Amino acid sequence: MKICIKCQLPKENDQFYPNRGHRDGLQSYCKPCDNAKTKLWQETNHDKANAIQARYRRTHLEEIRVRGRRASSVWHHTNREKILPKMRQRAKLYRKQHIEVMRAKNRLYRISHPDKRRDGHEIRRARIKNSPIVEKVDRQAIYERDNGKCHLCKRRVSRRTFTLDHLIPLSRNGNHVSQNLAVAHRSCNEQRGAGYIPAQLRLLP
Ligand SMILES: [Zn+2]
Ligand SMILES: [Zn+2]
Repeated sequence: MKICIKCQLPKENDQFYPNRGHRDGLQSYCKPCDNAKTKLWQETNHDKANAIQARYRRTHLEEIRVRGRRASSVWHHTNREKILPKMRQRAKLYRKQHIEVMRAKNRLYRISHPDKRRDGHEIRRARIKNSPIVEKVDRQAIYERDNGKCHLCKRRVSRRTFTLDHLIPLSRNGNHVSQNLAVAHRSCNEQRGAGYIPAQLRLLP
């Protein structure tokens, strides 16, 4: 606790800038008073203030850049809700103005990440069905685990066309997690529907 000699108010120590020249290591003015004083000085000493600022900028390039980036990221984080619609709008506009670029990008992404696309689709579907636990699952790992065999008809299914079947269906509050997923032919999967729960429930964590 310390009393500001300008506004005469007692304030916590963190309300004072440091000043190594002072015995307590703090400025005599509190931060708001100090800022006001600095501002007033800058306003009455325009040229000097500009010169000082310009010199500071020249000699602290990296520091300023880092601080700016950090401040901007903090600002974006705290104002997320407020700026989200604007950001979405801007992204939309960008996509509109760069249709060909976006198309090429998407095409490339789809080709190089066939599983990712399916994952996203499945996760969205699980979320829509209010599955209690929705995790990102590794399709290929499940395929390996199930030895590339359909859990319904027990026959082989190709790595290219296999689907993942929820042992406890999403419609019965099944989780979208690897323990609740098994490899299945698309046709077997569709035939099974959400009607019954297979006997070989090897899950149940
Ligand atoms: Zn003060
Ligand atoms: Zn099958």
